[in-house]
Amino acid sequence: MEIEIALLGSVPPEFVLLSRDVVEGYLGLKAQVVGFLNMYSSEERVLAYELLRRVREPLPGNMLLVITSKDIYHPGYNFLFGLALPGKRKAIVSFYRLLCGIRQIELERLAKEIVHELGHLMGLNHCETPGCVMRFSNSVFEVDEKDWRFCDRCLRDLEIRGFSVKRGYLLDITKYLNKR
Ligand SMILES: [Zn+2]
Ligand SMILES: [Zn+2]
Repeated sequence: MEIEIALLGSVPPEFVLLSRDVVEGYLGLKAQVVGFLNMYSSEERVLAYELLRRVREPLPGNMLLVITSKDIYHPGYNFLFGLALPGKRKAIVSFYRLLCGIRQIELERLAKEIVHELGHLMGLNHCETPGCVMRFSNSVFEVDEKDWRFCDRCLRDLEIRGFSVKRGYLLDITKYLNKR
């Protein structure tokens, strides 16, 4: 199984590198960056569900992850950090609301949101364990409070589902800071 990573809007190269590393190094899945999407070029704000319905299909057995600079939303929510549709094997992560001018913090937040949404695609629901990456986040403060990793219970769940997450993976954000 591969994660096809598609980019929408203006996505910095270090964000792409981090995404690929987190997928391969931590989640233990193959990642393939499939390039920029040619849709919603003039919109700044996009309905996440509609985008995931319209976007290209992943190859059979693969999953598609869209990473976007655009602000995404859903009826009933002003904004979303991400959305996953496990039935369609598609997820999106937006870093629009994660930006704060400090690259290190932005990269950490992005890693958490990617692991979170792909966790949903791998079959996990939200988790109440303090610190677990699968906790629901309503604000960047809640994103900052949680870890970028799964708790032990979520890890066991993923193992039962046949995934082999690399528990010992070290996320070294500093290596992405001078990649501009
Ligand atoms: Zn979630
Ligand atoms: Zn958990």
